Amino acid sequence: PKSPSPAPAAAKTKKKLDIESKLASNKTYSKPHKSFVVIGHVDAGKSTLMGRILLDYGIVDAKTVDKLVKESTRAGKGSFALAWILDQTEEERSHGVTVDICATDFETSTTRFTAIDAPGHRDFVPQMIGGVSQADFALLVVDAIEGEFESGFAMDGQTKEHTILAKNLGIEKLCIAINKLDKEDWSQDRFNQIKLQLTEYLTSDEVEFTEDQLDFIPISGLSGNNVVNRDESIESFNWYKGPTLGKYLETVKLSSNIDSKKVQDEEFYLTVSDSFKDKGEIKVTGKIISGVIESGDTIVSLPSDITLSVQSLLVANNKFDFAINGEVVQLTFKANQVTNDTIDPFRIGDLIAHVGSPIHTVKKFTISLHLFNLDKPLLVGTPFVLFRNNCQVPARIIKLIEVTSSQKKKKKKNLLHLVSKQTAIVEIEIEGNPLPLTIFKDNKTLGRIVIRREGSTVGAGTVIGF
Ligand code: GDP
Repeated sequence: PKSPSPAPAAAKTKKKLDIESKLASNKTYSKPHKSFVVIGHVDAGKSTLMGRILLDYGIVDAKTVDKLVKESTRAGKGSFALAWILDQTEEERSHGVTVDICATDFETSTTRFTAIDAPGHRDFVPQMIGGVSQADFALLVVDAIEGEFESGFAMDGQTKEHTILAKNLGIEKLCIAINKLDKEDWSQDRFNQIKLQLTEYLTSDEVEFTEDQLDFIPISGLSGNNVVNRDESIESFNWYKGPTLGKYLETVKLSSNIDSKKVQDEEFYLTVSDSFKDKGEIKVTGKIISGVIESGDTIVSLPSDITLSVQSLLVANNKFDFAINGEVVQLTFKANQVTNDTIDPFRIGDLIAHVGSPIHTVKKFTISLHLFNLDKPLLVGTPFVLFRNNCQVPARIIKLIEVTSSQKKKKKKNLLHLVSKQTAIVEIEIEGNPLPLTIFKDNKTLGRIVIRREGSTVGAGTVIGF
């Protein structure tokens, strides 16, 4: 009798996907995906601009744009995404515009975009942090009208906080749309004056962008000039030789642009932004921070530590057999795989990884913390909220190891508080569930944190050890 043939060893080691050819031949993946967060003062013209972009790319019709802008004005928070949720019809969705709580997806002939809303209201800063940490770059909309820019930017702490957050959450490019220039007769002087003032502020030690991270584009969201199309008949605008905003968005070079060779060697991580049960299935949405996931893969959700296998996955509403870094993906799992129903396997902010990944799920860790302008010192032991991507947890400093920003880099004994603008090595403790983290060196997104106290952002840091 034949002896049973041993299981072929090759079947056990997972075959590498030929990502490069798969990406090239796939209608969705052959277009690069970029996400940007839109920030700016209330009334700077964010909704009008988003409407204009969608209209001039032929994604929605004028009537829908009109409704969108009205709804978002009514919502009162300058939130264009909110308007989409209220408004979207089946037909619009079939035209490729999809939405979640704070993001609008759309597609041009060259690029797939996710525009992330940064609601202006103070209460929404936590969502903003989640939004920014999903973005590749930021679009700051400013009102160029004489007097409006001056009062808007000077007064608006929210826009400043958003900009500081963007910088500290790893946004590498900030595009500044100098809007409503139709009201300033497309004046080059006015454009340059605003550009100069903003450059000064954005490169100051309050925000710390470098000049090469900043790009300025003159536009009118209302008339549409220089958004997607350029109106060549406006003579007073002849001075401008740069790209339209649309061209800029499509061509901006980012270090996060996918390198298909690298992506396969990265660890796979996804942050959960939504999860629900539906007819015996669990559906989980999130953004892939790095690496590749394939349908059939076994994953672990952290910190719940529940292991499940991926039944199927959707990208931009299409079923695929894999998804890569940068994509927002919906994973489907069989609900009956979860045997312990006392734990919710996927909560907003949780992290999904492959089984055996080197991620640390910890309650204590060491960071290098940089503090912003504080109205009072930050004491060892004072509770605050710590953010990592869209995950937020109560935490505190339990040990101040060393202040590294002062001239004499000596370890001070019994240091008990930190003040504005200091940088220090500190040990953090989390309350409640442990937090999945990597050190910053291993993953620039998962190794970065922001802290807020009493409703304002006080500092940002990078994880350096456990
Ligand atoms: P948001 O709060 O930032 O979303 O701003 P909105 O899009 O609601 O715009 C605020 C106001 O500015 C509205 O009355 C718009 O019509 C007006 N507006 C927006 N963009 C422009 C523009 O490019 N030129 C002019 N003149 N007005 C604009």
